Amino acid sequence: MSVKDLFLKYVQIHSVSRMGAESNPSNELEWDIAKVVAEDMRAVGLKNVTLADNCYVYGWLDATPGYEDAPAIGFIAHMDTATDFCGENVKPRVIENYDGSDVELGAGRSLTAKVFPHLPSLAGKTLIVTDGTTLLGADDKAGIAEILTAVSEIIAEGIPHGRLCIGFTPDEEVGLGAAGFDLPLFGAKYAYTVDGGPINSVDYECFNAASASVSFKGFNVHPGSAKNTMINAALLAMEFNAMLPAGSIPAHTEGYQGFFHLLSVEGNTEAARLEYIVRDHDAHLFEARQKQLQHITQLMNDKYGGGTVTLELAQSYRNMAELVAPAFHLVENAKKAIAEAGLEPVSTPIRGGTDGATLSYMGLPCPNLGTGGWAAHGPYEHCTVEDMETMVGIIKGITALYAQHRD
Ligand SMILES: [Zn+2]
Repeated sequence: MSVKDLFLKYVQIHSVSRMGAESNPSNELEWDIAKVVAEDMRAVGLKNVTLADNCYVYGWLDATPGYEDAPAIGFIAHMDTATDFCGENVKPRVIENYDGSDVELGAGRSLTAKVFPHLPSLAGKTLIVTDGTTLLGADDKAGIAEILTAVSEIIAEGIPHGRLCIGFTPDEEVGLGAAGFDLPLFGAKYAYTVDGGPINSVDYECFNAASASVSFKGFNVHPGSAKNTMINAALLAMEFNAMLPAGSIPAHTEGYQGFFHLLSVEGNTEAARLEYIVRDHDAHLFEARQKQLQHITQLMNDKYGGGTVTLELAQSYRNMAELVAPAFHLVENAKKAIAEAGLEPVSTPIRGGTDGATLSYMGLPCPNLGTGGWAAHGPYEHCTVEDMETMVGIIKGITALYAQHRD
């Protein structure tokens, strides 16, 4: 099967994950795609294909004789789709020889160059879009199709390789794709997630991330006789937020700029609570942001009495750059393979986290490669067959480079 055929098959299998579910996988229907993917892994020639009881799928290719000393390289993608938009009854539409103009999807929605300025650059390619009622699922089914096609071509063309480890996960979209990943079983020394956007990207920097929950305790008396007595918890919450830098919010930041993001406000005179997430690529600035929250908490407790404000900080994930740094050949080899495919490689700081970041912290350095998908998580999601084919070549190129690599 071609990368296009595999892709079209996978996107038509409903595999949305579920936020807040206690089970593994988060949604029973993720088994449907896992079984199909496991079957295809066997079909392309992967060995010992294992569908684990938490719905992770693994498969391996032994090193070509003579290349046993090359490091074992992993490629990882996720099988679930985003919870943000309907992923059921996906009806992909293939537009051969796309002319670069706006595309009417259906359901009153159109793909326009006004919103997606890269569209004209896809002219001449085979564009795949939705019917406007669902997401497409290129995130990350393009990644699965590309990895499996690369494996099948590596075998067919006799490209020398070290040990290859292939893993597909459920539940990436609900933040749990790395959680159940069996690293000892997987056995890769270095790996890539294939779960990004443009195929010339290799991303290895992400945010450091924490969440902050701030509680305010008021002192409630009759408002008519409240002078010098009442402490209004809702006003305390407003005072707290007013002490944070107003420009340091998601709507005013980009690139390497971090932020405090106020997720929710709830409260009344008696009690109030603010929930934030805190993000910064720079580890020192990230610490400073948390210190700033502690400082404001201290100030307000000094002013209103100890215990008025309680701050709880919880660490979420860390920037993987520091973990990829000792294995920077991961980035260099990816860039080499991208350049060999005739593209200009780019690295962009990810303004979020990735499964690769978590895997990096678990001990497997894991930058993220592109898939060729655009506008993920909604009805405007689209990709081209040609970009997926080029990505197959990039994965093969990386594999060939690592056959020559010795630590
Ligand atoms: Zn993804």
